[in-house]
Amino acid sequence: MAGKPRALIVGNWKMGGLWSQLAELDALIAALPAAAPIETDVVVCPPATLLNEVCNRLAGTPIAAGAQDCHPEVSGAFTGDISAEMIADCGARYVIVGHSERRASHAETDGLVRAKAAAAFRAGLTPIVCVGETEAERDHGLAQSRVEAQLKASLPEVTDPLALIVAYEPVWAIGTGRTASPNDIDKMHWVIRDVLKERFGRAGEGLRILYGGSVKPENAAEILKVFNVNGALVGGASLKAADFLEIIRAA
Ligand code: PEP
Repeated sequence: MAGKPRALIVGNWKMGGLWSQLAELDALIAALPAAAPIETDVVVCPPATLLNEVCNRLAGTPIAAGAQDCHPEVSGAFTGDISAEMIADCGARYVIVGHSERRASHAETDGLVRAKAAAAFRAGLTPIVCVGETEAERDHGLAQSRVEAQLKASLPEVTDPLALIVAYEPVWAIGTGRTASPNDIDKMHWVIRDVLKERFGRAGEGLRILYGGSVKPENAAEILKVFNVNGALVGGASLKAADFLEIIRAA
């Protein structure tokens, strides 16, 4: 296996963030000057209302912007939705697809997530494809089979597999303050790695797999040192520049 890929830390602001709160973003930008490059890739995913402004502020910095979701179509009569092309047009480079909150509250299926990931590639964006089991699935010993099936059905056809990111986010760990143990994360990331190798051959070895679920400054270092953990998808702790910076530095 090739060396560990460059770590990626992604902040998901969810439905949080007003223009008046962008001082936190400015503090992050000030702490990561382009003149002092870091060894970690950093992405922030604000709500769609702030994406354009965030892209403007991030221009020329080492931080990239991403969106939290996209529609599979390029354009059309889809009130309230935004397409991958619109996201790219703002200057963003990433898009989260299949977050468990969208799978649950918008009834998103694996097929839809796959179409959204394909749309991201079509628009030149990097999709971050999220998978993860519920607490009931884990309690019934179904965590690995669930994640394996979800991943297989959510992965799009790709010409450059390394331009795809997978995020393992156990549903019961998101926003709850509970995290999976390093041992459980290690086991699940191997399951995911095996699916990626089976699907993409050697490229599957280098594809980045993020962990998400209550990653905080206090637990980031322990999680990020797990062998197949190539970064983190961070919700709550990404809203405060100081906390997010500590997580970036732990990588
Ligand atoms: C998330 O939003 O993807 C997430 C992992 O949230 P939190 O870090 O708050 O658990």
